[in-house]
Amino acid sequence: MSKIVVIGANHAGTAAVNTILDNYKGHEVVVYDKNSNISFLGCGMALWIGNQISGSDGLFYSNKETLEGKGAKVNMEADVRNIDFDKKIVYVTLKDGTEVEESYDKLILATGSLPIIPNIPGKDLDNVQQVKLFQDAQEVIKKLADDSIKKVTVVGAGYIGVELAEAFERHGKEVVMIDMEDRPLPSYYDPEFSEMMADNLKKHNIKLAFGEGVKEIVGDGKVQKVVTDKNEYESDMAILSIGFRPNVALGQGKLEQFRNGAYIVNKKQETSQKDVYAIGDCATVYDNSINDINYIALATNAVRSGIVAAHNVCGTELESAGVQGSNGINIFELKMVSTGLNYVKAKALGINATYTDFKDTQKAGFMEIDNPEVSIRIVYDKDTRVIVGAQVASEHDMSMGIHMFSLAVQEKVTIDKLALLDIFFLPHFNQPYNYITMAALTAE
Ligand SMILES: Cc1cc2nc3c(=O)[nH]c(=O)nc-3n(C[C@H](O)[C@H](O)[C@H](O)COP(=O)(O)OP(=O)(O)OC[C@H]3O[C@@H](n4cnc5c(N)ncnc54)[C@H](O)[C@@H]3O)c2cc1C
Repeated sequence: MSKIVVIGANHAGTAAVNTILDNYKGHEVVVYDKNSNISFLGCGMALWIGNQISGSDGLFYSNKETLEGKGAKVNMEADVRNIDFDKKIVYVTLKDGTEVEESYDKLILATGSLPIIPNIPGKDLDNVQQVKLFQDAQEVIKKLADDSIKKVTVVGAGYIGVELAEAFERHGKEVVMIDMEDRPLPSYYDPEFSEMMADNLKKHNIKLAFGEGVKEIVGDGKVQKVVTDKNEYESDMAILSIGFRPNVALGQGKLEQFRNGAYIVNKKQETSQKDVYAIGDCATVYDNSINDINYIALATNAVRSGIVAAHNVCGTELESAGVQGSNGINIFELKMVSTGLNYVKAKALGINATYTDFKDTQKAGFMEIDNPEVSIRIVYDKDTRVIVGAQVASEHDMSMGIHMFSLAVQEKVTIDKLALLDIFFLPHFNQPYNYITMAALTAE
């Protein structure tokens, strides 16, 4: 029986702690988190800010009491400041200022990620907001109630920026979205799909300022305008959502790190230090679409990595199946899902990639209502014919289909195998020759 210390109790940490306590008896589990809450679902933040849900209660699925009820010792608002990996001791400052030295047999690092804040003048002005924690969302919601906030500028057109732009538009604010890239969601989608999202945002009165880099935020105490290399945008609030970096201060220079600093882990979530595991946003993932380690910060990855680490820590050998960055987004009516590599990314990686596109209604043509068009792109390697990614967009909820492509990328399925796959047909759901079959059948 060992003493397991877990640092960080959001999605990754909570998954690890639950897995240990639900499956193994007799271990001593001690948890430290510097925040005051556990398990905040950031994915619901934009829905909450945009008043699409009635409140924040449903955005939590665990808490200190639940974990303690299962046998863990949970310390909230407890800041782990240092770790001696040789002596196997973590140094913590508790909420009341008490300093604690906690020894461990096994250590799980689940310290997550931090928003990337560009080092530009004006970044610390009032109403320049970050979006990560429950408290960040609370602050934004409080400020939005102030009628003097009319113009909101969102910096960063990744999935969080795009979701927040919708939320502010739903509040009746004038919204501008700025990004250095020339299109939204470039890491997940090809230009044709990004274009659908850009059109969707424009249709809903969100002004797009792509291909512009933010140089400065100007204001007198409070933000007044956001200045780019090309324009100036009057703003009463500015949201910085340009991405996240792994929170690795505790292992900096002590554990092996990826190019962005994330702790490098193997498929058992083991770091370069014996008995030390890293999970969630502070660690690398194994990415099946590139057959290498990568950094993909998603709650889904965090939870799975927590489960894998917990079993290994407790003596059951278990390897992660890897991930392919499967993701989805829903902005106003438009839904987009993708997995693996898009064509632009695959080419940039030197893969001899090509793609097959198809567009059709979701259900049989004679289904007269609730039957929008669906666009699909399947990206595959011309040489091996192996599928490396897929993208689907529609106003119809076709999201479940992407899971099959996720498995296809993981298992290196060829485009030819997909062409004659047994895909069922029922008019209520799809077409006899549905767009997946057709895309595969028409692949060159
Ligand atoms: C607005 C938003 C929307 C998102 N939407 C989605 C989505 O739709 N789907 C999806 O899959 N993912 C989504 N994500 C990403 C997802 O939230 C993260 O991938 C996930 O939170 C990672 O979980 P984690 O436990 O690894 O890290 P984190 O959530 O970052 O948690 C780390 C924890 O460690 C604690 N900690 C850090 N350092 C210390 C220390 N020194 N001492 C003590 N405690 C410490 C922190 O207090 C924190 O509780 C979204 C994120 C945001 C911000």
